[in-house]
Amino acid sequence: MTELPLVWIPRPVHQDALERLRPHTEVACGYGPGALSFDEVADRVVAVLLRTERVDGAMMRRAPLLRIVARHGVGLDTVDVATARERGIAVTTTPTANSRSVAEHAIALLLAARRGIGIAVRNEGDARRAIRGRELSGSTLGLVGFGRIAREVAAIGAHGFAMRVLAHDPQVPAADIAAAGAEPVGLAELLSRADNLSLHVPLVDATRGLIGLPELLALPRGSVVVNTSRGGVLDEDALLEAVRQGHLAGAGLDVTTVEPLPEEHPLRAEASVVITPHTGAQTDEALRRMAVEAADHILARLA
Ligand code: NAD
Repeated sequence: MTELPLVWIPRPVHQDALERLRPHTEVACGYGPGALSFDEVADRVVAVLLRTERVDGAMMRRAPLLRIVARHGVGLDTVDVATARERGIAVTTTPTANSRSVAEHAIALLLAARRGIGIAVRNEGDARRAIRGRELSGSTLGLVGFGRIAREVAAIGAHGFAMRVLAHDPQVPAADIAAAGAEPVGLAELLSRADNLSLHVPLVDATRGLIGLPELLALPRGSVVVNTSRGGVLDEDALLEAVRQGHLAGAGLDVTTVEPLPEEHPLRAEASVVITPHTGAQTDEALRRMAVEAADHILARLA
């Protein structure tokens, strides 16, 4: 009987990925009853399906049959990509699998910020009288960065809430932004018109501190700001100042410069600021999609 190619999965992933792989491969798990370590399968392993576990060059050199490292999620900081390339080992990620989940989270934070949900759930004093929320419908959404997640936010905002959508992304042609239903604008114009600012850029030198106090004060008074991208893109001291001045009606943060944000951080004392602990991609659907797409990358490589 011919041996099926062996896939090693170090940590639990969605069951559907295992079911996808099992008819075509032998699955060895690094967890649970009968757990096998990488070294126990190194001489037979053909594929690894990992979440955030490490696969370094030394491991690759111990695995002569290894052909693919399929990452469940984005980012390759745990995989030695240079050694993989030298050895002809494919390395894949699932960059779009969680975009919808993060986009929905951005919309949730926008709604929370505009409706004073943070103030309401604390229910301090007479919250019911204190809150005068604003509908998202018909307002103007400004997206900084117009990649995978921002496009989903734009679609939900335009179709679900009849929002006018402005987008600023120097690396995306204006025609592509317009074709996706948003109005391409420069950052200054976006800030001057957006009732809702949502950030969707990577954290790189050019975006570190991109939104500071001058940018926040350039927004119309009563605007809200949401960051589901990376802490550091938005200056948190500036956000605190703009909220305390009453210039911003509220904010929603899924990401912060330090994660988790310390309990004593002054932003936590601001009831109009809703903070979630980097949970934008934490949905059943995203976890399933990431695992199944990674399994499909393995099957395509072994076909
Ligand atoms: P993407 O690469 O598809 O899009 C990013 C866009 O930002 C690109 O189009 C790029 O041209 C643009 N950009 C870069 N520099 C810019 C600048 N200075 N001004 C304006 N635009 C600029 O990325 P994505 O998948 O949409 O992810 C967006 C962000 O969300 C990333 O920071 C990512 O790390 C983060 N993210 C967060 C979560 C979460 O759980 N909250 C999950 C996934 C991704």
